[in-house]
Amino acid sequence: MAWSNINRHARGYGSQWEKLRLQILERDGHLCQCPDCKGGFLQPLPAHEVDHIKPKAWFKTGKAQGNPDDPSNLRAVNRECHKKLTKLQKGHRPAVRVGLDGFPVED
Ligand SMILES: [Zn+2]
Repeated sequence: MAWSNINRHARGYGSQWEKLRLQILERDGHLCQCPDCKGGFLQPLPAHEVDHIKPKAWFKTGKAQGNPDDPSNLRAVNRECHKKLTKLQKGHRPAVRVGLDGFPVED
């Protein structure tokens, strides 16, 4: 239905990302590529999502160079593993600094 396409585009994920996503899932055999699954600690889980190996934010801040959506920076991941990875990445970010007034300080 047409309206669902409009919604999809409104969320910022166009058909180009959709195509790329399927390409990555196909390339990785629809199996999770996270360190836990790949490292053999677990039976590899089925992947339905695509993760940026280097977070997109790194490209914005100049910590990483190039195109964040390059296939070399993408990997298929399981939904639950994706959540774990995102949490880990957030943990590595510097904590929000709080000023003397008790409000977060913007850099
Ligand atoms: Zn995994």
